[in-house]
Amino acid sequence: MIQLENVCRLYRSDEVETTALTSIDLNIDAGEFVAIMGPSGCGKSTLLNVLGTIDRPSSGRYIFEGRDISASAEQQLAKLRRDRLGFVFQSFNLIDDLTIGENVALGLAYRDMSAKEKRERVEAAMDRVGVAHRKDHHPHQLSGGQQQRAAIARAIVGEPKLILADEPTGNLDTENGAQVMDILSELNADGATIVMVTHSPAHADIAKRTVSMVDGRILTSARRAA
Ligand code: ADP
Ligand code: ADP
Repeated sequence: MIQLENVCRLYRSDEVETTALTSIDLNIDAGEFVAIMGPSGCGKSTLLNVLGTIDRPSSGRYIFEGRDISASAEQQLAKLRRDRLGFVFQSFNLIDDLTIGENVALGLAYRDMSAKEKRERVEAAMDRVGVAHRKDHHPHQLSGGQQQRAAIARAIVGEPKLILADEPTGNLDTENGAQVMDILSELNADGATIVMVTHSPAHADIAKRTVSMVDGRILTSARRAA
């Protein structure tokens, strides 16, 4: 599904140059559940952002579903993100002025489907993660666990092929973190490819493969024994 070939990412600001990613080679097959681990600053978020096309490689190639998108126009990447990708963040990133139902519906913005179909899909996504009863509440009225589950509903309502999750359990207690991991595992079992940054070895174990990074490089990539 995904191939990164010799991907580098440099950040330049005034005199300082930071190498966030160095010579990354990474293949991810459809249906994989990959955990990315490594110390703070090693490039995990940058890697996830490159995979999510919200950051571009400075050099190297990004092949998505057989197509080299390294030099694609921003408009094409926006379409790819909308149709194929779902994002989950550590801090949920729900919009507090909107209800949970409205937040989840954002995952279908600009999709070409009837209002009725949108409504049904939003209902189904909220049901799936157990927040349907919170539809008319605002994010601040929900617990952290509920907010993250609502954020997952927004990510999956468009039925993405690839879910990118940046420390999705980082702000949650053990029990709510476990609930989120259960949901991600179910989504993976149902066919979604998932790439997740985590600091939790226990959560990485739930993924099928762990990629360890240090200093902008991939150190090891180990698949869990079935
Ligand atoms: P991690 O997610 O593993 O903590 P990041 O991918 O956030 O690591 O960062 C990798 C390196 O790139 C760090 O040294 C960080 O300071 C630097 N970096 C990340 N984003 C930017 C940016 N927008 N501008 C400058 N440097 C950045
Ligand atoms: P659910 O009710 O979907 O199982 P959680 O397991 O996340 O939700 O919530 C556990 C408990 O915390 C529930 O009884 C819920 O009503 C309560 N709760 C929800 N939102 C808040 C909040 N903002 N502050 C405190 N408790 C909350």
